[in-house]
Amino acid sequence: LEEIQQTDKEIADLIQAEVQRQNSHIELIASENWVSRAVMAAMGSPLTNKYAEGYPGKRFYGGCACVDEVEQLAIDRAKELFGCEYVNVQPHSGAQANMAVFFAMLKPGDTVLGMDLAHGGHLTHGSPANMSGTYFHAVSYGVNDDGILDYDEVRRIALECKPKMIVAGASAYARTIDFKKFREIADEAGAYLMVDMAHIAGLVAGGQHPSPVPYADVVTTTTHKTLRGPRGGLIMSSAENAKKFNFNKAVFPGIQGGPLMHVIAAKAVCLKEALQPEFKEYARMVVENAQALCKGLQNRGVDIVSGGTDNHLMLVDLKNLGVTGKEMENLLDEANITCNKNTIPNDPQSPFVTSGVRLGTPAVTSRGMKPEDMDVIAEAISLMLKSRDNREQAKALVKTLTDKYPLVG
Ligand code: PLP
Repeated sequence: LEEIQQTDKEIADLIQAEVQRQNSHIELIASENWVSRAVMAAMGSPLTNKYAEGYPGKRFYGGCACVDEVEQLAIDRAKELFGCEYVNVQPHSGAQANMAVFFAMLKPGDTVLGMDLAHGGHLTHGSPANMSGTYFHAVSYGVNDDGILDYDEVRRIALECKPKMIVAGASAYARTIDFKKFREIADEAGAYLMVDMAHIAGLVAGGQHPSPVPYADVVTTTTHKTLRGPRGGLIMSSAENAKKFNFNKAVFPGIQGGPLMHVIAAKAVCLKEALQPEFKEYARMVVENAQALCKGLQNRGVDIVSGGTDNHLMLVDLKNLGVTGKEMENLLDEANITCNKNTIPNDPQSPFVTSGVRLGTPAVTSRGMKPEDMDVIAEAISLMLKSRDNREQAKALVKTLTDKYPLVG
């Protein structure tokens, strides 16, 4: 930071302020995490200087001997961690990974069946606001009145619309996804199955969620959520499908130019960390914490969509509490708790207002928090839900935790 301070004081001060914000707040955004110092250092390394269009051993630039080894290590570790035969570690983000898969497996106008954004799906699974819903014919499935994925309905829609590809995976779904069932539906409908495991990748790596790898034709993920790595994406498949669909060509030169070698190095570091026995314990604690937070809220009269959680996140249903998701996000921010507003199934409010908030435990778990701390967070949230006048009391509770678990990473 000192070097930035000398060159660009404005940016250095803003970074410092953000560090301070992260340290003094409880981070409950389900898609965020705290990376290790090693991951952070790899991202800030001189590998950012290197152009390396192409793949290890087949580059369009000279001087790639070292970065070739870096990329190969990242590939080998991802293969080992997820038990797959092919990995592309170059996608700059999860959205890029998904775009490359669409580019490789579909033609414009093909039908894609993905989870409705308003029911917990992701923009890149066919939202009209995204390329996936503009260049392709997107059809969606959702959850039932209990907030649980309705597999019979997925099957019914799939047999009706005969999609070229079914996309499984979500951004705001708290229950275990049955990938085997999705495979059966895809087979019956004659569709490819793509699984986007961005949110749960760390849980899959840590043995807390069944792996989609044995069932899907292709699996994509981000590396920065529960997997606790740098911002980025991965594509995984069998060797046969990698050859058939040529995912490498779809990533480069299909939708990207030069790979971000500093980020790929950080992915390699994060994958090595995820291969250690401690990571299993981390993944277990993420889920235990989510269940403790959920219970703490439910004990205080707060409704949770689907009545609980099997993973790292939960959707709070605010409909009966007279507060919108947008208001709740702001209220919690006043108490130094960060979360995001989120639509809930059949939400009467617009996506900018919403009737829910999404809460997740990957970041607080990385910070070292335990189930008993989740009850303190639930109490702080409950205080803010009762009245804004409780702000100082809620803030004091937050401070006991941020003091107990000082900044890491
Ligand atoms: N897929 C899912 C399921 C996600 O939740 C997200 C991000 O939230 C993405 C893809 C996109 O990832 P990125 O923000 O890296 O493009």
